[in-house]
Amino acid sequence: MVEIVQGDITTLDVDAIVNAANPSLLGGGGVDGAIHRAAGPRLREYNKTLGGCPPGEARLSPGFDLPARHVISTVGPVWHAGDQGEAQVLENAYRNSLELALANGIRSIAFPAISTGVYGYPKEQAARIALRVMKEYEPKFDRIIAVLHSPEDYERYRRVLAEMDGG
Ligand code: ADP
Repeated sequence: MVEIVQGDITTLDVDAIVNAANPSLLGGGGVDGAIHRAAGPRLREYNKTLGGCPPGEARLSPGFDLPARHVISTVGPVWHAGDQGEAQVLENAYRNSLELALANGIRSIAFPAISTGVYGYPKEQAARIALRVMKEYEPKFDRIIAVLHSPEDYERYRRVLAEMDGG
């Protein structure tokens, strides 16, 4: 089953943590800044060789100084009004991260709440998309973990998952 935990994604000892990156892949604020700080400067140097990443796609890097073995960087949509394909791009970001993980033998993976910070995606709608795709891929992994930084976001994910499970 999909695990929901509250905390800092950079502390997790998993095969891969997913970064809510910007298209440059060279670092930014929020969870992106936290991951780059914890991974060390080699992540930025490595990502320079990747040539960026369009919204909805995903790219693989080593974890460097992180406990996690890999970083999967994906780029979520910037929320405008919901009429510019934001939902499809958000789904693609989760799906392409999971497909990239499978293609590289990754068995345990942790996600932040992509696009729900400075990118402004409505949190409830984002949680439904995130959990639906994670549940779909759950049989193919040992662990899929949703990591929420705030208690409020953690409680929202717990409630949305319970609703999806019919509880
Ligand atoms: P985006 O630009 O995709 O909106 P943000 O980093 O601004 O990305 O926010 C995405 C989510 O990541 C937010 O819910 C934020 O609370 C959360 N977040 C920030 N730091 C961490 C962290 N260290 N671990 C897990 N989640 C985090």
